[in-house]
Amino acid sequence: MSDVVLNHIYKVYPNGAKAVSDFNIHIKDKEFIVFVGPSGCGKSTTLRMIAGLEDITAGDLFIGGNLVNDVQPKDRDIAMVFQNYALYPHMTVFDNIAFSLKIKHVNKDEINRRVLEAAKILGIEEYLQRKPKEMSGGQRQRVALGRAIVRNPKVFLLDEPLSNLDAKLRAQMRSEITKLHKKLATTFIYVTHDQVEAMTMGTRIVVMKAGFVQQIDTPTNLYNYPINKFVAGFIGTPQMNFFNVTLNKDGQNVTIEFEDKQQMVLDFENFIKCNPHYLDGKTYLTLGIRPDNIVLAERKGKSTIEAVISNIEKLGNETLLYADLADKVNTEESVTNASIIIKVPASDTHQVNDVIHLKFNPDFIQLFDAETEFTVMPFNPSKSFASLKVEGGKMVLFNKTLPLPEAFSSLKDGTYEIEIPASSIVDGDEFSLTCSKVQKVEDDLYLVCLEQDKDHYIFTTSPVEVKPGTKISFDVALEDVIFSDKETGIEPISHTFASDGKFVKVKEAKKDGRGKEVVFYGEVPNARYRLSDVATKRLFAIEGRNCFTNPYRLEYGVKIVEDSSNLIEHEKLGVYKYLKKSYLKVKVGDMINYVDITSYKGNVDDIKISFDHDAHLSAYNKANNVKII
Ligand code: ADP
Repeated sequence: MSDVVLNHIYKVYPNGAKAVSDFNIHIKDKEFIVFVGPSGCGKSTTLRMIAGLEDITAGDLFIGGNLVNDVQPKDRDIAMVFQNYALYPHMTVFDNIAFSLKIKHVNKDEINRRVLEAAKILGIEEYLQRKPKEMSGGQRQRVALGRAIVRNPKVFLLDEPLSNLDAKLRAQMRSEITKLHKKLATTFIYVTHDQVEAMTMGTRIVVMKAGFVQQIDTPTNLYNYPINKFVAGFIGTPQMNFFNVTLNKDGQNVTIEFEDKQQMVLDFENFIKCNPHYLDGKTYLTLGIRPDNIVLAERKGKSTIEAVISNIEKLGNETLLYADLADKVNTEESVTNASIIIKVPASDTHQVNDVIHLKFNPDFIQLFDAETEFTVMPFNPSKSFASLKVEGGKMVLFNKTLPLPEAFSSLKDGTYEIEIPASSIVDGDEFSLTCSKVQKVEDDLYLVCLEQDKDHYIFTTSPVEVKPGTKISFDVALEDVIFSDKETGIEPISHTFASDGKFVKVKEAKKDGRGKEVVFYGEVPNARYRLSDVATKRLFAIEGRNCFTNPYRLEYGVKIVEDSSNLIEHEKLGVYKYLKKSYLKVKVGDMINYVDITSYKGNVDDIKISFDHDAHLSAYNKANNVKII
């Protein structure tokens, strides 16, 4: 097995440069993984940590199931091919390829066999007696690959191996490396800044930016379902078009209003994954559409906008039209100059200054939150939006009448919007809805869309393909449901216990009584949580000595305890009953939290709480909300 697993990997260089932050991936045996991103985003550093050429600041690295953080590069069963392949000029191709085997004292027959086999795979058998300078760039790159192949590694690491080659040779070598991967049937990890290389070679791609992984997905999913605006803009040429818009839902129509006030009306059906509050006609969003998903309409219509062609690029097989949103173009007061690229067939006869009518293929419209730049229509939504009716002291959800929980007794009769996390939709037979759409997410995982009514759809996943029209039964973990109606102010039960906190160091006697040691704690009012060595290392790697002065939000588990030491100081705000469960509402510092007291039998006033050490402590830097541990 040649799985490569990165668990919360960080790299901070001695000069303080944070090159890689919280990198997590499980690379499966025989995968071709590509790390892609702009220069300086941490791709090479990650690869070099896998190779063992760079220390890992924090986190665990497993190759073939073994923890290899402290294993020497030569013992990691990997082979690396660099951009600068540095062949020995005085040696023949044969000797260059054989070099690593010779220094390992592999016997001569075995060396011959392996070099010939590698040369055959790479199609360089007839050049084995040549010197590198007698070969072309592409051939030399093949020799470099040959040096890696003869070592028979579990994992191939390739760092921009093609960037020294010209465009034509690069395209050729791209397909050769893909074929090589198939032939060798082993794990490849490939670094490039070129998204075309990434898209054509990777079985999965890791898109990175400024040390952070943005998205890990198949080329098709990255292209069609980018997680944020950065990925959307980075993948695909020409680049995706972006517009500032608002969306207004009116019945089954959604009107998209562009900055220049032009409007495009589309069916609500295209926006069912979207949180309804984005469809209020006021909230700004970024709409993304690729040049190949815009078509030219014959005439103006409800679902078209106008633009004026400013430039035309004929590429032979297709043509690119550059245009500007047109509404105000003919008047003096052009509000926006949003430039659009449209891909049209080579036969297109439009001229510069022509007014064109653009229609967007609604299946490929992307929407991003204007501030966070995250998609608001994720491929596999983590929550759904349903409608809940409160009537005569009862609540009606999915056509079932249920008792109204005590906590909502003050609700007036009416209809409320609720948010249901995907994880709260569980097997059961309490509710039943009809499946309206099914989409494959990955092997053995299907996204199932259930229709509550024409305005609300519930998303869940299934390991088997479900046919549209089928009735699906399920339960909802109602304590996880969030009442998104702001005015009624109904609080959901928060499952994460959080408070403001800080980090402290304390000199303590060692457990064995021999001298003292420095111990690090996360601290909340009155109580301390001892950090593990790994957590301490990570805290220092990321925050340095600022960890003692920065403000943090600590998240942790709590439990009800009998003893009186290390108790978390809190204010009791009363008991909160929710369906079959009871919670004690408490304030720690400035934050409100809930302690599940369903099975607690004693007097509520006597409740003492402390850390639940089975639930780890997490810490977020309050200034930038980055998860530190
Ligand atoms: P990429 O491969 O994506 O171009 P790198 O992994 O080489 O990026 O670099 C990531 C970041 O780490 C960059 O900001 C770079 O300047 C920094 N960096 C790389 N190597 C070192 C080093 N040896 N010392 C300090 N900073 C470094």
